[in-house]
Amino acid sequence: MLIYLEQEAKEYPLTKEILSRFSDADVVETWHYKNVFDKKIGYPTEKCLILAKSDRLKLFSVPENYGYPDCKAFFFVTQLNCVFDCAYCYLKGAFKNDFPVIFVNYSDIQLELRTKILELRHGWYKGKIVLYASNYSDLVGMESLSWFHQSFIPFFEQFDNVLMETRTKSGNIQSLLDLDIIPQNTEIAFSLNPQAIIESYEHWSSSLKSRISAIKTLQAKWWKVGLRFLPLLPVPGYVEIYEQFLRELCQEIDINNVNSIFLATLIYNKQDWITIQKKESDLPAGRQGFKLLKDLEVGEDGLVRVSAADREVFDWLFRKYFGDRVVRDYV
Ligand code: SF4
Repeated sequence: MLIYLEQEAKEYPLTKEILSRFSDADVVETWHYKNVFDKKIGYPTEKCLILAKSDRLKLFSVPENYGYPDCKAFFFVTQLNCVFDCAYCYLKGAFKNDFPVIFVNYSDIQLELRTKILELRHGWYKGKIVLYASNYSDLVGMESLSWFHQSFIPFFEQFDNVLMETRTKSGNIQSLLDLDIIPQNTEIAFSLNPQAIIESYEHWSSSLKSRISAIKTLQAKWWKVGLRFLPLLPVPGYVEIYEQFLRELCQEIDINNVNSIFLATLIYNKQDWITIQKKESDLPAGRQGFKLLKDLEVGEDGLVRVSAADREVFDWLFRKYFGDRVVRDYV
């Protein structure tokens, strides 16, 4: 294991915990994590990690039509990159390399979150506030490294009408269960796709069976569980593939007991789409790229998506099973 350690991150408790856990790791100090993170790296990064201090605002407003309707909603960032390797992941376009980064100063990030929530409440906003935690990493997948949920689930319990959504493709929920609470303000949102698509495009993530088992366990323990069907991929024969997947899923899961259901197909901003394709063209011989990328359409709004016809088919199919409970995410 190779750990790049930003100088300002050295004294934080999480840094010390991680370093003591990987006591045989090679540790390289760096003045700022971007000295490493912003470089194009030519060697494998699976066994590398960056520990850094978040030194500027890490809370962003979500785009229009994203996620829960009728609320004030923000992304917040505690980690960058991911232990999984989904072929379609937009992070490949957003960042120069795939080093996982953990911002270890959780207390500062929580102070920022608290300040934002109180600012809204003091401005007399009494409605729902949603904080999306997992748009730059799969935090359940990273939990054994970062203990994110151990810290942030209890943190959010102190507020009224606030919800943290954490999205995952991991079925490993033991650390959540170890918390031994029933959180009211956290939703664990499982990203689901048919097993054939998981095998082809969601490398190193948990199997569908494992994700379903995790959903059932959390539901039985009264956790808030969401289903995220995203990104839906219009692979050849997709209508039959997704129809069978939905039929089986509805037999397995108590859908009435699901907190929310969101749906989205592939969507990129144009620059990320171009960058990902460029990276794909640099793949070593023998490694296949993500073929669906080139079939996407550039919309008038500058966003790149699957065709409107395929989006309508997906919408029709999912409404057949879930009716009006489906929220079309960021259409
Ligand atoms: S799980 Fe999410 S963040 Fe991780 S590689 Fe897949 S799409 Fe990207």
